[in-house]
Amino acid sequence: SISVIAIDGPSASGKGTVAQRVASVLGFHYLDSGALYRLTALAAEKAGADWADEGAVAAVAEALDVVFAGEAVTLGGEDVSLAIRSEHIGVGASKVAALPAVRTALLQRQRDFAQAPGLVGDGRDMGEVIFPQAQLKVFLTASAEARAERRYKQLLGRGEVADLAAITADLAARDERDRQRPVAPLRQLPDARLLDTTAMGIEEAVATVLGWWQE
Ligand code: C5P
Repeated sequence: SISVIAIDGPSASGKGTVAQRVASVLGFHYLDSGALYRLTALAAEKAGADWADEGAVAAVAEALDVVFAGEAVTLGGEDVSLAIRSEHIGVGASKVAALPAVRTALLQRQRDFAQAPGLVGDGRDMGEVIFPQAQLKVFLTASAEARAERRYKQLLGRGEVADLAAITADLAARDERDRQRPVAPLRQLPDARLLDTTAMGIEEAVATVLGWWQE
């Protein structure tokens, strides 16, 4: 069977960066599952579909014409790599992600990323729903303050106007929605290892995951 490392955790915990680095060291494929929910929110907005309209948004998710090429993401041939990273689309992603039909529409698309020699998947439900058979499950987190600070720096680095208080509030609302939703809620599984990166650099976090993988 294909090797899978599932890395789940809250927004801005650094799991994307860690997952990508681990994948690159091991020569594994990488799935940024959050990008699929962000793409769905963006495509729904472009199509004029309300983020609360489950049927319409699920149809958009099912039909997503997306290509991942390294760092770049295209939607219907248009480069949306930056557009999907805005806070606005992040909020939309967490709204459409709470709709069961949308999660179902994206299920197989995510599983198709598991190809030889292996995959590192990052998201909220990698270990519970998408890849329950994953050989290693990690719950990667950091304090709310550390996460808000990281997201703030990330947005500033991209030249976006950022407001630390607004970001802190956004992250809290998004995490609450992710934890409280009835389908695939964000939670640490009993068989997941906890990696708290509040006081840890990326290198140390990557080394920890690689160490667990080699155990
Ligand atoms: O990880 P990222 O911040 O890009 O994810 C955006 C949103 O997509 C999250 O807030 C969450 O609501 C949703 N998501 C999800 N399941 C995943 C990945 C992301 O519900 N596997």
